Amino acid sequence: MRKQDCVFCRIVRGEAPAQIIYQDEQVTAFRDLNPQSPTHVLIVPNRHISGVAEVDQEDAAVLGQLFVVARRVAEQEHVADGFRLVVNNGRPAGQSVFHLHVHLLGGRAMGWPPG
Ligand code: 5GP
Ligand code: ZN
Repeated sequence: MRKQDCVFCRIVRGEAPAQIIYQDEQVTAFRDLNPQSPTHVLIVPNRHISGVAEVDQEDAAVLGQLFVVARRVAEQEHVADGFRLVVNNGRPAGQSVFHLHVHLLGGRAMGWPPG
């Protein structure tokens, strides 16, 4: 996957449509196209990282910012009392877009273990 073909890179650059609800120099948060809960937001690094299996020490700051923004989005969406963060890594785990993203799911009760 070349970066110029990556849909999340295109969303970050404003070249593909998305409901962006937060953006700063490091990360972007936008609503999932196919929501699995009343609140379903994807939080992504602006720089292309294909998945957790590819993260480096130098990515630590941006990875931390994903969580800072997760907290902010959870509060903004009024789900801070109960929400789930999911990062699928690799096809067997359900990853389908190979630009690292944190799913923020909230607004309903959730079961455990996940499927
Ligand atoms: P994964 O399966 O890789 O963990 O999650 C990919 C997520 O991206 C899915 O929940 C899917 O609905 C969402 N998605 C895929 N393409 C697009 C898109 O073009 N726009 C938005 N907003 N979400 C997308
Ligand atoms: Zn990308």
